[in-house]
Amino acid sequence: MNFELTQEQRMWREVVHDFVEREVKPKAQEVDEEASFNWPAVRKMGPLGLLGLGVPEQYGGSNVDSISAAIAIEELGWGCGSTALSISAHNGLGTMPLVLYGTEAQKRRFLPPLVTGKGKLAALVMTEPGAGSDIQGGITTHAERQGDDWVINGAKMWCTNGSVADYIIIVVRTDPRGGSRSLSMIIVPTDTPGLHVAPTEKKMGLKGSPTNAVTCDNVRVPQDFLLGVEGRGLHQTLATLDGGRISIGALAVGLAQAAMEEAVRYANGRQAFGRPIAEFQAIQWMLADAATEIHAARLSIYYAAWLRDQAKPYTKEAAMAKLFATEMAERVCRNAIQIHGGYGYSREYPVERIYRDARLMTIGEGTSEVQRLVISRLLLQGM
Ligand SMILES: Cc1cc2nc3c(=O)[nH]c(=O)nc-3n(C[C@H](O)[C@H](O)[C@H](O)COP(=O)(O)OP(=O)(O)OC[C@H]3O[C@@H](n4cnc5c(N)ncnc54)[C@H](O)[C@@H]3O)c2cc1C
Repeated sequence: MNFELTQEQRMWREVVHDFVEREVKPKAQEVDEEASFNWPAVRKMGPLGLLGLGVPEQYGGSNVDSISAAIAIEELGWGCGSTALSISAHNGLGTMPLVLYGTEAQKRRFLPPLVTGKGKLAALVMTEPGAGSDIQGGITTHAERQGDDWVINGAKMWCTNGSVADYIIIVVRTDPRGGSRSLSMIIVPTDTPGLHVAPTEKKMGLKGSPTNAVTCDNVRVPQDFLLGVEGRGLHQTLATLDGGRISIGALAVGLAQAAMEEAVRYANGRQAFGRPIAEFQAIQWMLADAATEIHAARLSIYYAAWLRDQAKPYTKEAAMAKLFATEMAERVCRNAIQIHGGYGYSREYPVERIYRDARLMTIGEGTSEVQRLVISRLLLQGM
């Protein structure tokens, strides 16, 4: 792998960085305090290509390479965890399954309005009140054929973008006998009768990224809203998550980068014992560790993204990158607060918010424990 970014990728980073610095970062505190969704910035992301990162140009997307997509999410994470999570979920979970598994008719119908920034966003929900890590065995939401329709019943939980989505891809059981070929993906427009999106969850962080429970009460959609192959929903979901994990890892790198920058600024300005705290070796070592770990995480994200673009297997590398980057972000944000002393615990300083936002990253799109399972399983298989 060539570890130097191409000129195009470097320019892309600059463009996205400038946009985030102008439109996203200044609103991050307000978005968190008011639990508001930053629609004004999201509207402007359409023309920039941030809403169709993996969507082919014929459907209006920017279809950038996977490293560029990771760069975009990292920059958004640097600016605002909430906004970044919603845009990551929109691209990685909401639109990618359509790109990968959709029919031509589904792509033409659903993708163009999502990538312009004029419409709403996309979402995918597999998690249920009783099933998160164990989707294969735990999913009870089911769909059955009635005439020309699918009729869906059940309850879902933790749907990022549920209340701001145009459609939600719902992972349902289509074969009641169970097993690895019993799940399927179905596209459900959010205005479908019987689909109830609950009020936004009150969370520890990421408050400007709406997360909603979703219930299906005899939700009826045409049979051709089935996405991909009936019974291949587990496989399709796991493949979608591989890409999503690169994205969550990149988001974590952005959060850590922002926390480190705050810590550097603070360490240079704060005086103790007659000199800036930046002159104490204890502070310098925390900063050196942060810079080193961020660098290592970023490179492991790029590597997984590069493998993906080479059409090589990347499940293990994506899990490793997500595991390392998200656990690294927690350490870096924790130390950024430590460097701020008491002020780090105050809502006046961004590190407090960034720390709360970072906490989700080791849980969403597969917990750290699940990443370790994925890595060790492949390792033991000699892969
Ligand atoms: C803010 C937020 C946004 C989210 N967005 C989405 C979304 O858009 N779509 C969606 O479908 N879901 C979403 N989720 C759900 C998220 O993916 C799940 O919370 C996550 O996968 C963990 O599932 P769980 O919460 O059911 O935990 P559980 O699976 O119940 O796990 C509980 C604990 O047990 C551990 N554990 C479970 N199984 C094993 C095992 N075999 N070995 C070792 N340890 C194990 C876990 O690691 C964890 O520590 C979101 C969650 C949050 C909080």
